Amino acid sequence: MIPYEEARHLVLKDLAPLVPRDFAIEDALGLVMARAVRAREASPRFANSAMDGFALRAEDTANGEVRLRIAGTIFAGDVATTTLHAGEAIRIMTGAPLPDGADGVCMREEATVDGDTVLIQRAIEPFEYVRLVGDDFGAGQELAGIGSVVGPALLGVLASQGVASVLAHPRPRVGVLSTGNELSDSRDDLGAGEIRDANRPSLLASLDRSGFTPVDLGIAADTRGEIAEAFEHGMRSCDAIISTGGVSVGDADFVKSVLAELVGDGAQSMQVAIRPGKPFAFAVDPTTGVPFFGLAGNPVSTLVGFELFVRPALRRLAGNAELDRPTASMILDCPLPRRRDGKLNLVHVSVGFANDGRLHVKSVSRLGSHLLHSVAAANAIAMVPDGDGLDTGQEVMAMIIDTERLNGR
Ligand code: AMP
Ligand code: MG
Repeated sequence: MIPYEEARHLVLKDLAPLVPRDFAIEDALGLVMARAVRAREASPRFANSAMDGFALRAEDTANGEVRLRIAGTIFAGDVATTTLHAGEAIRIMTGAPLPDGADGVCMREEATVDGDTVLIQRAIEPFEYVRLVGDDFGAGQELAGIGSVVGPALLGVLASQGVASVLAHPRPRVGVLSTGNELSDSRDDLGAGEIRDANRPSLLASLDRSGFTPVDLGIAADTRGEIAEAFEHGMRSCDAIISTGGVSVGDADFVKSVLAELVGDGAQSMQVAIRPGKPFAFAVDPTTGVPFFGLAGNPVSTLVGFELFVRPALRRLAGNAELDRPTASMILDCPLPRRRDGKLNLVHVSVGFANDGRLHVKSVSRLGSHLLHSVAAANAIAMVPDGDGLDTGQEVMAMIIDTERLNGR
């Protein structure tokens, strides 16, 4: 057996980000940028009002109370043509350009209008409620560097600068193959010995959730021919391939030998010191560079293998610097029993913030690599080191696999 860290290193060491290409910004959400973008214009592009109110000369209000003549109105989108003179105010709306001569705004709520005059009852600071040119950034400033992840706010910035496309690493297309003579896609009653495929749907969904493009490669029977054909097909159309099943030491476990035939010496078959998910095959096709992940077939093992090996590797292909799920030490509200077996145990758990503001492990799924339903409500995977288990009140490291459900509701 090899330790988890070593297996992870073997997987990651030869993987590099996919070749970048141009993406329309509408298609770029979540992508990692491969070229910096600089501002074409300053933002704000012109000085404008931060409030609905009255543009004025701050010095006119220096004495604390003054009545000014209302000399006009400027709306957002208007061009400010009138110049403001001493003793005057101009009605101004949020986002409207500040007129020449004005250097402050009194908000509408603080001004008392009387006919064509307005009473200002306190001194307005120079530039109060004025958004100055370049407050956010100046022309030519770097808005996003290489490695930036395109998020909603950055997308807005790019759009506001008239940027149409960015050079970014593509979203990896990832093929998913289930192997096993027993597997069926049927929604009808099953024949004797058959089971329905659970792994492919759950992996395709995991890929989608993590921002990759899932590609369904179907089910292959436990024959070298069907497995090889599916892999070859996948390698032509995908950036990475995941298979489940057939990597163990059973008489019908052909994934490892097919991989060795296809990619030669680079095929690695590992026994990783983890539970579940010990048998694991990995290879990188020397001609296409496509990595191949052969996960154990038990449905919980499949999900654990995805989180431990596949997802970080795919994030590297996508160009992400940060490969891992958020991982933190959490307080156990319940015991985490295990037996000593020389392996790191990966246990699905439900975690959330407690009243102390800290993350707590609130419940633990039943252990068993075939008990998929028992992990369905989990939102984290606890990493329980070898030993006799942990007690309530102790701490455990856990990776959060669903960040949307941490508030305990
Ligand atoms: P294997 O890794 O092929 O030895 O399979 C281990 C266990 O997982 C066996 O009980 C299989 O029937 C089961 N299994 C394999 N693939 C799947 C799948 N796609 N969906 C549900 N169970 C599976
Ligand atoms: Mg099998």
